[in-house]
Amino acid sequence: MDSVSAASGNRLMQAKRLVVKIGSSLLVDETSGQIRHEWLATLAADVAARRDAGQEVLIVSSGAIAVGRRHLGIVGRDLRLEEKQAAAATGQIRLAHAYQEALLAHGITVAQILLTLDDTERRRRHLNARATLCQLLDLGAVPIINENDTVATEEIRFGDNDRLAARVAAMVGADALALLSDIDGLYDSDPRVNPDAAHIDEMDAITPEVEAMAGSVLRGYASGGMVTKLQAAKIALAGGCHMAIADGRLPHPLQALAEGGRCTWFTAKATPHSARKQWIAGSLKPKGFVSVDDGAWTALRNGRSLLPAGVAAVSGAFARGDLVAIVSADGRELGRGLSAYSCADARRIAGHKTSEIEEILGYRGRDEVIHRDDLVID
Ligand code: GLU
Repeated sequence: MDSVSAASGNRLMQAKRLVVKIGSSLLVDETSGQIRHEWLATLAADVAARRDAGQEVLIVSSGAIAVGRRHLGIVGRDLRLEEKQAAAATGQIRLAHAYQEALLAHGITVAQILLTLDDTERRRRHLNARATLCQLLDLGAVPIINENDTVATEEIRFGDNDRLAARVAAMVGADALALLSDIDGLYDSDPRVNPDAAHIDEMDAITPEVEAMAGSVLRGYASGGMVTKLQAAKIALAGGCHMAIADGRLPHPLQALAEGGRCTWFTAKATPHSARKQWIAGSLKPKGFVSVDDGAWTALRNGRSLLPAGVAAVSGAFARGDLVAIVSADGRELGRGLSAYSCADARRIAGHKTSEIEEILGYRGRDEVIHRDDLVID
């Protein structure tokens, strides 16, 4: 193995949290419309190996439409949006079932998550989706994610799972994202047309030149298109997540990547943690203030979450998921974070124990007012 491939394999193996995107063409046989169970079994073995090595794995999988359309008898022509949605609804059950069976062989529990663009963009839904995904990982499950095709119209569709996978990776603070499809990376021109097209092993920024390349010559030479893959790379890099474009058609595609198989790596300069903290600290204006007592302040400085018991007072008008400033009793700003409660609810539980939340609010919300992952201390 040369040094480039060794380094690239490491990026995959060193990720604590890894997102793997599976393109339709890998999972579904184009002519029969059947799920390629043998290939899927090798992917499941690779996922199990990553988990045995202590890594968390999330899968974003396409294929619902490709599987479902055969069952509905709509083949041999382009589908209208409603037909795609109907096909996805039929295919998704089979897709989820196939993953369930394949991973069960390794004692792994799967969980199905269907997301729309809105769910990753609106802060409140984003936090909900993120909390559920992180909870599933904590409980040892592998989330199997796809676009919620049924409710997404043309305008609010991701349209491609490359970007969905990158959004998911950024949302959960993944360190690496592997886009597995039928192309082994990015080339400086279309390799099907130009035999001298040069493969790009690695890059750390999506420059306008690279985008221009993808916009013209590179358009459409992979199933999801290079354009969407570069858009995905932008999202991933902004989230501090390394991303690989790799050919996943052969058996054991993750293993091949871990062993330094040919691909293009987009390397992030930030870490997911610093990217998220930067986003919280920089991009938003606080909608309110939460003042904390000295005990809570010490806990926050030690990297803990803000519990209701540590909240002395709440002001401003904020909803769940909004940015709030954390201030000391004498009004100094100590940091910022995303509140898990609206200002009205935060006010009601301020000073109370976490175990009292349900009795006070009538529902059991999050244990923390601001989770440590959603917090930046100055
Ligand atoms: N959500 C679509 C499906 O599962 C796939 C979108 C894509 O291939 O990127 O069929």
